[in-house]
Amino acid sequence: DIELSNVRKRFGDVTAVDGVDLTVEDGEFLTVVGPSGCGKSTTLRLIAGLETVTGGRIRIGDRDVTREDPSDRGVAMVFQSYALYPHMTARENMTFGASTAASESVTDAEVRERAEEAAALLDIGELMDRTPDELSGGEQQRVAIGRALVRDPEVLLLDEPLSNLDAKLRIRTRAELAELHDEVGTTTVYVTHDQTEAMTLGDRVAVLDGGELQQCAPPQEVYDRPANRFVAEFIGDPA
Ligand code: ATP
Ligand code: MG
Repeated sequence: DIELSNVRKRFGDVTAVDGVDLTVEDGEFLTVVGPSGCGKSTTLRLIAGLETVTGGRIRIGDRDVTREDPSDRGVAMVFQSYALYPHMTARENMTFGASTAASESVTDAEVRERAEEAAALLDIGELMDRTPDELSGGEQQRVAIGRALVRDPEVLLLDEPLSNLDAKLRIRTRAELAELHDEVGTTTVYVTHDQTEAMTLGDRVAVLDGGELQQCAPPQEVYDRPANRFVAEFIGDPA
């Protein structure tokens, strides 16, 4: 599991994350939702170790990772704007650097096998020899997710991974992600500003506003019993 205890992050005068207490259970799919600038990406980057906390503690499993390097945390992150290496095939993008990135030592053969498994799950098995310019946006995004899966992370962090896709592809890829999580069950934190996405994908939904956690509960509970007026209006008001 993951536990954030009173986590704060300040950038100069801006408090991006303001005393967040949050637990993500093993195998849980937690969605984090809130308006632009509310601190979603920063929260994810703090868990990943790409930013250091101004205050508070972060635990992953039985390790206090607050001061640990990103590479020691057992997390893999997929970014808002995914970047694939343009000169590499999908397969190379997925496997490049994976044997050294994994916490336990894995052979190149194992990495290749994992890549084929991930590709099958993501339905891109036929596209593995193509370079990014020969793939659609949705296919590229699935390669980026595959790249994270190949690292077999303890925790998968996804920052608006579908934001660059058109509506139809977004809905399809969303369904595929849900299916993938059912099969693999990696502990996942999924950031989105889309209420519908948060409510349909999450086992629980964490609602952020102004860097503060407003509520964290199963979708139905957030819907039926919003913790405050902000949650009621934000969730009730489809984007
Ligand atoms: P969006 O939905 O637009 O992606 P977000 O919820 O992910 O928004 P964050 O990126 O976490 O928001 O930003 C939270 C706040 O912190 C914003 O006010 C932002 O301007 C500020 N911020 C984020 N990163 C930095 C930084 N590196 N330096 C200074 N301010 C930052
Ligand atoms: Mg963001």
